[in-house]
Amino acid sequence: MERIAWDQYFMAQSQLLALRSTCTRLMVGATIVRDKRIIAGGYNGSVSGDVHCIDEGCYVIDGHCVRTVHAEANALLQCAKFGVPTDGADVYVTHFPCLQCTKQLIQSGIKNLFYAEDYKNHPYAIQLFEEAGVKTQKVPLVDAMVDTNFMEKNAFVYKLMEKLDSLDLSSSEKAKIQADADRLFFNESKTH
Ligand SMILES: [Zn+2]
Ligand SMILES: [Zn+2]
Repeated sequence: MERIAWDQYFMAQSQLLALRSTCTRLMVGATIVRDKRIIAGGYNGSVSGDVHCIDEGCYVIDGHCVRTVHAEANALLQCAKFGVPTDGADVYVTHFPCLQCTKQLIQSGIKNLFYAEDYKNHPYAIQLFEEAGVKTQKVPLVDAMVDTNFMEKNAFVYKLMEKLDSLDLSSSEKAKIQADADRLFFNESKTH
């Protein structure tokens, strides 16, 4: 049985962090990883102690909510606060970073950016990442991977399919069921 891929594991972590966001304009999560270990995480939210957008509404200037620290910045600041080096680290974000976060990630020595969803993808951000030698890769999250019963369901379905072999099905029928099961459980997870 296949295990959850590292990319999916870290991206799922960012997705969970995004659920903690206090600004509903866009809920973002970021996870910083070094040597396959999570060293920090963040979501977009107010400065500690300030009111939350979800309670008081956003503080909008020029079309942007200025109340929150962005997820990527919060994760980097957590490293700063506790003295954890970020040089050479990877970051997993739910959305392609804004320009400010792009500059901060580069300046912190982040070397690989994995993102689940495109979000405006500013050409200058793409250019800066390229110039800095930061590799960017889109890693869409497979929903099933954050299902806590995922392994159990997977095992159950594959056990059922073994039983199907004893039935009088045509090979094309079996192949179709097999293809459906593969698509449901392991469509985009085979990255490693
Ligand atoms: Zn807001
Ligand atoms: Zn940002």
